[in-house]
Amino acid sequence: MDCLFCKIIAGDIPSAKVYEDEMVYAFRDIAPMAPVHVLIVPKCHMASVDEVNGDNSTYISRIFEVIPQIAAAADLKDGYRVVTNCGEHGCQSVKHLHFHLLGGKQLSEEMA
Ligand code: AMP
Repeated sequence: MDCLFCKIIAGDIPSAKVYEDEMVYAFRDIAPMAPVHVLIVPKCHMASVDEVNGDNSTYISRIFEVIPQIAAAADLKDGYRVVTNCGEHGCQSVKHLHFHLLGGKQLSEEMA
């Protein structure tokens, strides 16, 4: 499958890893939009939130279990934002589900 994030998970494309376990891989965004900008991805390919179902949702719950650890390791004690873009209107550019973890500064109140 020609998927950028599957290649990053496999180590075929380099990344700045910040966390890994059997279900989750997290790495620094190549074009950060905040002082801390980490991408958190499931190791099983799913294109977007649209493909989450009862067979793969344990990957999503695992992601949300480890987000506090990743945020603490990045010293985001004053808070952070978790965002996922889905589809064309959501401006999703990489078709492997990922959650943006943003922080390290006061973020905008605007969500859209
Ligand atoms: P989205 O627009 O929500 O699909 O987010 C995709 C994100 O992937 C963007 O923030 C990109 O900067 C980021 N990105 C693209 N290629 C890479 C890469 N090779 N390593 C790290 N981040 C990447």
